[in-house]
Amino acid sequence: MYSCYSCGKTYSILEPRWRCDCGGFLTLPENVTFPRETFANRGYSIWRYRESYYLPSHAPSISLGEGWTPIVTQRIDGMEVRFKLDYLLPSGSFKDRGASVLVSLCKALGIEELVEDSSGNAGAAMAAYCAVAGIKCRIFAPAYTPDGKLIQTRLYGALVVKVPGTRQDTNDAVLQAAATTYYGSHLWNPFFVQGHMSVAFELWEQLRGEVPQSLVLPLGSGGYLEGIYRGFRTLQLSGLVRTIPRLIGVQAHNCRPLYEAFQLGLDGAAPVEIQSTLAEGIAVSRPPRASAVLEAVRRSGGTILSVSEDSIRASHALLLRYGFYTEPTSAAALAGWLQLPHSERENAVILLTGHGLKESEKIARIHGL
Ligand SMILES: *Cc1c(COP(=O)(O)O)cnc(C)c1O
Ligand SMILES: [Zn+2]
Repeated sequence: MYSCYSCGKTYSILEPRWRCDCGGFLTLPENVTFPRETFANRGYSIWRYRESYYLPSHAPSISLGEGWTPIVTQRIDGMEVRFKLDYLLPSGSFKDRGASVLVSLCKALGIEELVEDSSGNAGAAMAAYCAVAGIKCRIFAPAYTPDGKLIQTRLYGALVVKVPGTRQDTNDAVLQAAATTYYGSHLWNPFFVQGHMSVAFELWEQLRGEVPQSLVLPLGSGGYLEGIYRGFRTLQLSGLVRTIPRLIGVQAHNCRPLYEAFQLGLDGAAPVEIQSTLAEGIAVSRPPRASAVLEAVRRSGGTILSVSEDSIRASHALLLRYGFYTEPTSAAALAGWLQLPHSERENAVILLTGHGLKESEKIARIHGL
């Protein structure tokens, strides 16, 4: 059952739906099963934990083997820190976790075509999984998006629709298309969020039950953070962990609606002036699930940081020195960690979210090559 975060109205998950009639976003129950007895003899992908995603039981697993990304320890500034390489997924970003689960739901509902709006990693991930599932996929993006950013999405077979005008115009166009075609939105859909629960389950297994003091991650719409919170909450309700790591979301100073909301104690995104940022993957000006994201940060005892363009650039250079080839967005997380007081840096895991190979030209420019 879906329930609306705003008005509490419920809907069957067998209904193809992406938000409540009142306009609110949908949520799924917290008390799901963690398949501890059965997963030991399954393969190493997010599907090891399939019962936790609350999918209809007849849903297939549309999979490319995503998940179980490595954890690598480095010494930075005299302190050990662990990185989870969540850019090593089939389409090159963690968004494959969400796309795999959401496209599996679509397949179960008999959806033959979907629309989505994203000029980056979410579009590529949805296009990849739709290709596997045999679902037609139309991706809307602003006309000003460089063609290079859409090549991967196109090559997977998605139809890219370029919309003249602002990002808001693209938003309006996809909503219009959503009146007649399923909206497989990474920003709205709670099943996309469910896929990210797997990060918590993997950490729990990979670290043999140890709970890090904090997880530091780039924060855009917050679906990644919300999902990871839900994963740890599932482990807690199953009695497998006592505490949840502090979730530390890092926004770019140039686009920080959730940072401002957290500072001001709001329960929705704050209206802020947006400027362009190197961390394009977290430039989300109006995150629709903001209330759930802020609640997850607060309930984990975490916080939201904001980092400058200079510190993103410097942290990206540092990542390269350690051999991590990520997109600049991922460097925001390291910049946030470096901003923490020493006592709070200890025992952290930094999540690296997007592969650098997608953005080599931009990376070359940033570092003056
Ligand atoms: C989407 C994305 C993020 C932010 O994830 P949200 O769920 O929007 O908070 C961070 N890094 C990369 C590389 C991304 O593609
Ligand atoms: Zn509602």
